[in-house]
Amino acid sequence: MDKMLSCQLICPCNNKEYISSASLKQHHKTNSHKYWEKDKEQKDILIKINRLENENEHLRRLNILLIERISDLEKN
Ligand SMILES: [Zn+2]
Repeated sequence: MDKMLSCQLICPCNNKEYISSASLKQHHKTNSHKYWEKDKEQKDILIKINRLENENEHLRRLNILLIERISDLEKN
């Protein structure tokens, strides 16, 4: 329980441990933390875009394959 509590008081932006949730909240208001948060959001968005593009490419190929199969079936 104590360990869990202390984990929650560590900010991932700097890996610093804060003595109380109030001081952690105070840290969340700082520019360095906000900058890190924005940077993280942008990275997350880029990862999502990348994933969607891969998925899109996969579906595009699958679509081509299915069209080929259908046209093969129609020939026979
Ligand atoms: Zn932080």
